[in-house]
Amino acid sequence: MKTVLEVRTESHHFRNRDIIGGDPALDFVNTVTGRDQSPRDWLDSYPRLLEWAAFVHLLPKRVLRALAKKAHKEPAAAAIALARAKVLREALFELVTRIVSRRAPTKSALALLREHWITGIKAHELRFGGGRVLIDLRNDPIDFDLIASTVAYRMVQHVLPLPMNRLRICQGPNCSWVFIDSSKAGRRRWCDMAVCGNAAKFRRFHARSRQRPSAHDHKSLNAG
Ligand SMILES: [Zn+2]
Repeated sequence: MKTVLEVRTESHHFRNRDIIGGDPALDFVNTVTGRDQSPRDWLDSYPRLLEWAAFVHLLPKRVLRALAKKAHKEPAAAAIALARAKVLREALFELVTRIVSRRAPTKSALALLREHWITGIKAHELRFGGGRVLIDLRNDPIDFDLIASTVAYRMVQHVLPLPMNRLRICQGPNCSWVFIDSSKAGRRRWCDMAVCGNAAKFRRFHARSRQRPSAHDHKSLNAG
């Protein structure tokens, strides 16, 4: 039961308000906004994916710099890697949606996540330092898929072990952002109370005049 809405790709500069997921793996899913109404995809190029990765501190700066250099030299391969990352992103959105509605994730979503997760594990090494075993990125030749595999790695190792009754999809209009509710009371319903929370209240107040622009138009007006 999937409604297919046309996704518009939009150029976007990431800001703090875009980072509400609680983990970069969830923030990655949120690089498409408004999936419920007018979906916009903010990853319009591989360099944009790098910009996002830098913004959420997904990988060390030296790695991102090396990826940027490589993408400049091999734009076609970078574009293919971006497309692969987006396939993972959509699988993760589906996975989260299903977990939130207490349904089993599809086998294909789990298989894809596993594939990238394993690549993510292989990108790491164990070394001994300061009296303990540490997990570090390997110094392998840099691969374009490292962003997707790091997202998958985080999803499996950091997000999925969390209490799944705290996994949420924002109930605001034209949003559908996913996040972990780490509030004490566990009653967070919106990505941002000031944005989607108020929009929901506004809608309740004006339930009969739904022609008004949605409060999330701020998310579509920041192209550039
Ligand atoms: Zn929201």
